[in-house]
Amino acid sequence: MPSLVRTEAIEVSPHLWGPRATGAQSNLRETPVSLVVLASSSSGNCSALIVGSGATRRIILLDAGISPRRTTLRFAELGLSRDQIDAIVFTHLDTDHCVPTWARFLPKHARFLMHKRHRARAERIGILSRRTTIFESDPVPLDGIATLSPALLSHDSLGVAVFRIEFAGGRTLGFATDVGAPTPNMVHHLKGVDVLAIESNYCPRMQEASDRPVYLKRRITGGSGHLSNEQTASLVRSIAPREHVVLLHLSRQCNTPDLAQRLHADAPYSLTVAHPDEPIAPIQLSAMH
Ligand SMILES: [Zn+2]
Repeated sequence: MPSLVRTEAIEVSPHLWGPRATGAQSNLRETPVSLVVLASSSSGNCSALIVGSGATRRIILLDAGISPRRTTLRFAELGLSRDQIDAIVFTHLDTDHCVPTWARFLPKHARFLMHKRHRARAERIGILSRRTTIFESDPVPLDGIATLSPALLSHDSLGVAVFRIEFAGGRTLGFATDVGAPTPNMVHHLKGVDVLAIESNYCPRMQEASDRPVYLKRRITGGSGHLSNEQTASLVRSIAPREHVVLLHLSRQCNTPDLAQRLHADAPYSLTVAHPDEPIAPIQLSAMH
């Protein structure tokens, strides 16, 4: 299988990178794709879209917040190698989502994709290069395999990108983490996706009772940090995902898997709670052959 992204461009606007999303869906190749969350917590977040089957599988990472070495070990468990990475798409560049040493370990043909708001920070931490593609709100085609539609939401000073990703045959994945506050725009952007991976960061009571400093509690709960279990459950109801929800980025100190999933009891979708260190079972996103 050819690489998923073109490599010749230095930094191109998304519409030059492949067919525009509008009207492009019929051109998407019917290729099996699955989602595996490799790790998800404030110690490191990394998910993989695994495209294709057998020895020719390719990988698109959504965030790379665990070291190349740890990621490679996770890949080995799945029969994959780092050389199969074609792209790393960043939601934002906080250290738990972007380990800068990836700039040295990215395979030669692969590239980073990030929002324009994160460009200056990328330069500071040394990951901006010829192989970086900057996006804003335009859909970014991934060489006929999928279309990535970003939207910027509030998180700390630079914001966070959330994604609606449409695969061959029209199946969709919503991916949203480190979302400061639920917004109508976010609901609109992710409405009715087949699979929704979304953070469910903290239990408000555990947060309040924790010995964290007041400034940190305010940062997390104040609208530009993270979503509580309750906010996530309410958002998910509004987004109305069709099949599957994956809860991401649970706080180890201020949450438990049981508290997070309790709010989704009897929901009309299946639920997976991502583990801080262990890969989840692959979730299929497009047709298998
Ligand atoms: Zn984070």
